[in-house]
Amino acid sequence: MNSLELINVRKAYGKTPVLDDISLALEPREFVAFLGPSGSGKSTLLRIIAGLETADAGEVRLDGRRIDQLPPGDRGVAMVFQHYALYPHMTVRGNMAFGLKNAHVPPAEIAARVAEAARILEIEAHLDKRPGQLSGGQRQRVAIGRAIVKHPRLFLLDEPLSNLDAALRMRTRLELADLRQRVDAAFVMVTHDQAEAMTLADRIVVMNDRRIQQVGAPMEIYLRPANSFVARFVGSPA
Ligand code: ADP
Ligand code: MG
Repeated sequence: MNSLELINVRKAYGKTPVLDDISLALEPREFVAFLGPSGSGKSTLLRIIAGLETADAGEVRLDGRRIDQLPPGDRGVAMVFQHYALYPHMTVRGNMAFGLKNAHVPPAEIAARVAEAARILEIEAHLDKRPGQLSGGQRQRVAIGRAIVKHPRLFLLDEPLSNLDAALRMRTRLELADLRQRVDAAFVMVTHDQAEAMTLADRIVVMNDRRIQQVGAPMEIYLRPANSFVARFVGSPA
């Protein structure tokens, strides 16, 4: 069964259409990157998949079930936001535990999951610090940790590397590739960075003008772009 299915999803803000006819089915444990310029509707699509926003038409299914018919705490989805969105007054441990406490996960289970995520991300030494005491890269890892502890079936990543400097971006990219090997989950990442999409994704979905322009493996898109927009955007050889 496909973990995530998008069927003719449409969205407009007022009279401005943002997403038109978006359809895609993920394979189990697949990593898909939506690649497109700023304003092409990538974040909106992730918020719809997360159930934070509703589509005007179409369906979002997770493991065969309509997402809008699942209770928010029971969707098996975890989102990493572009701007971390950590609670500044809570420790790293508190930030990672927060969602689990709200979901009434038992304290011993919470402690075990936080320890596991901290180990995966190598942030054990920072668990009692507050976000303000961390570097940007460490904060981003806490944001990823907050998703890992939920043991989601689907990770949603909104430009997870865009606020990092070049060296950290490379390192965090490798960490994401590694995380992928360790968890039984599918990934949807949105990005405007073609290198990021090319190196992490099994398939890339190129977005522009509210629509999917092409879906394919990175090399396929690079070597056989479907149109001139895709060719320019991924820097295909002429
Ligand atoms: P991306 O993440 O690809 O940059 P977004 O999904 O953030 O694109 O935005 C797509 C379009 O929708 C943009 O034109 C943006 O201005 C508009 N938009 C996004 N969120 C809202 C909102 N809450 N209300 C009105 N317009 C919005
Ligand atoms: Mg965005």
